[in-house]
Amino acid sequence: MRIALIAHDEKKPEMKRLVTAYREILAGHRLYGTGHTGRIVAEATGLEVTCFHSGPLGGDQEIGALIAQNALDLVIFLRDPLTAQPHEPDVNALIRLADVYAVPLATNLGAAEVLLRGLDAGFVNFRTLVTGDTTKHEAY
Ligand code: PGA
Repeated sequence: MRIALIAHDEKKPEMKRLVTAYREILAGHRLYGTGHTGRIVAEATGLEVTCFHSGPLGGDQEIGALIAQNALDLVIFLRDPLTAQPHEPDVNALIRLADVYAVPLATNLGAAEVLLRGLDAGFVNFRTLVTGDTTKHEAY
């Protein structure tokens, strides 16, 4: 599966703990991230992460574009609900596209854990029916 990882600045420590705890699950999948988050994930896990621009500089839109091409299967976006973001429209656009394409999306740590455990249990395999691509099951 192709997984996008994004975290607002206040949530980056949480993202680091999350990917460290679930490293073994993530290791079987292709990882993508916005600039700073992607580098933090790569550093924390030693896994390969395709990094786009930083979120405020267009990274959220790049990830949104992948969703629109059905090229992402799961998104973990740890949002900071307590801080105004200059790129709020981009954030909303990404989340909207995930809803348009029925891509599983977690916006907080609790939901992210459920999604990753569900991914490990095969609950996200329905995505191959959407994309028709069975080569994304390296983990299974
Ligand atoms: P960043 O972007 O990973 O480059 O910090 C995240 C965001 O704020 O959308």
